[in-house]
Amino acid sequence: MANLLVTGGAGFIGANFVHYWVKQYPSDTIVVLDALTYAGNRANLNIVAEHPNFSFVHGDICDTTLIEQLMQTHAIDTVVHFAAESHVDRSITGPDAFIETNIIGTYSLLKAARKTWLSDTNNPQPHRFHHVSTDEVYGSLNADDPAFSETTAYAPNSPYSASKAASDHLVRAYHHTYGLNVTTSNCSNNYGPYHYPEKLLPLAITNLLNGKAIPVYGKGDNIRDWLHVEDHANGIDLVIKSGRNGETYNIGGHNELTNLQVLELLCQAVDECFSNAPALSKQYPLCPAANGKPCIDSLTFVTDRPGHDQRYGIDPSKLENELGYQAKHNVYQGIQSTVEWYLNNREWWAPLLP
Ligand code: NAD
Repeated sequence: MANLLVTGGAGFIGANFVHYWVKQYPSDTIVVLDALTYAGNRANLNIVAEHPNFSFVHGDICDTTLIEQLMQTHAIDTVVHFAAESHVDRSITGPDAFIETNIIGTYSLLKAARKTWLSDTNNPQPHRFHHVSTDEVYGSLNADDPAFSETTAYAPNSPYSASKAASDHLVRAYHHTYGLNVTTSNCSNNYGPYHYPEKLLPLAITNLLNGKAIPVYGKGDNIRDWLHVEDHANGIDLVIKSGRNGETYNIGGHNELTNLQVLELLCQAVDECFSNAPALSKQYPLCPAANGKPCIDSLTFVTDRPGHDQRYGIDPSKLENELGYQAKHNVYQGIQSTVEWYLNNREWWAPLLP
């Protein structure tokens, strides 16, 4: 049995990870620490709220004293660190919060972990600090480049990816300098339920359902490697349980698609849902599909994001070969089920729209 401190557990991936973990390991204790920024939402954790081994703490990862208290009170032996400012566009308009949370916040957690677990150098407690990072730290690929591996040189291009790269380096340094047991995973673009509707896929779905255009940066030819959030949770599970101390693992879905391709799939999925369930037209009368129009006509090309990375691609073969990881969701079914989740959970997303 393990006692987990999950930072950022009220956000998109953190909440899905908590759902996954409670199902897989119901005897483990989970403490979620989350500052409930605009991206954090207590409702993301409703389905585990009554679980006897689950608790939620509203607080900031920069508060080292609070983290030390939580780690001691709950005898935490595993930290899973998701908390971050995560939206690239916001990092371009306001980088301060990214430096504060992603760099200072990670440093604060590492300090608390070292003090709690390694103070008694003769008797260090069994522990694991797992850090969740991104493929964006590796920079941008050209069309013919091999996908990112764990040895690809870091070349972050946005304030977001630079702040995540800095946090990865701090985690690595705490392992090499102080002997903290750490693992890091770098994953590609996630999609799935509970995704805040500012990111591409949930923005596209909610805009369609409200009869609004879908903004597409530039020509829509930027490539991302789409990973279902449940596959991500499974990959992190494997790394925490069996990953080698001090190692980094890439988690991907073998699904490189341009933004246009992924939006085409999404529009098709919405069209199909409406044609299979005519009652949806009453629920969402503004959606083009409710009026017999193809959703793809709602794409609108807008000025590109400054410094927009062209291509990300993940090579997850280290995780596959060492730990037996296999992504279970193919992107077609994954997008279909994600669209269905948004159709069935308007009460979750409607209050989050501007
Ligand atoms: P998110 O923005 O949905 O959630 C982040 C959570 O962290 C929110 O609940 C927020 O309230 C919380 N938080 C922010 N600042 C905090 C602070 N100072 N103290 C405590 N909590 C704080 O992000 P996400 O998409 O779920 O991403 C989770 C992690 O995965 C991040 O570290 C991100 O860099 C990484 N990641 C995300 C993706 C993706 O596609 N979403 C891809 C690769 C890596």
